[in-house]
Amino acid sequence: MSDDSHQLRVSKIKNGTVIDHVRGGQALNVLAILGIDGSGDEAVSVGMNVPSDRMGRKDIVKVEGRELSQDEVDVLSLIAPDATINIVRAYDVIGKHRVERPTEVVGVLSCPNANCITTGDEPVASRFAVLGDGVRCAYCETLIREGFADHIDVE
Ligand SMILES: [Zn+2]
Repeated sequence: MSDDSHQLRVSKIKNGTVIDHVRGGQALNVLAILGIDGSGDEAVSVGMNVPSDRMGRKDIVKVEGRELSQDEVDVLSLIAPDATINIVRAYDVIGKHRVERPTEVVGVLSCPNANCITTGDEPVASRFAVLGDGVRCAYCETLIREGFADHIDVE
């Protein structure tokens, strides 16, 4: 019952993706990772600090008319490891996926080290190992511990 009342806080969508169980305070970073800044024509609803039995408080992001790519899910896992991805078609949830933390993310983050081989003119895809407390560049070992959204290199 409490779950129903939580659902009412964010309107239902017809087709698209609902990213649920995002850690409280991370919704805006989720939007940044998805490249959503309000300039596109997607309808987006965001619930912040919604009470959650499982997490205390959580954020929810609903994006109309868009299903997430695996690259996007991989990066989301860095800031929202507990998230549930719900694919919605015609108001029904047709698929539910738990985010799985990958062991590495390739071609998604850009290395903050200007001298790294992946940031030069060479066509070398970035490659980061996912650690418990951040990610590490496989080429120059630069660590990123926070602000992942600032390093996203996704189209
Ligand atoms: Zn690097």
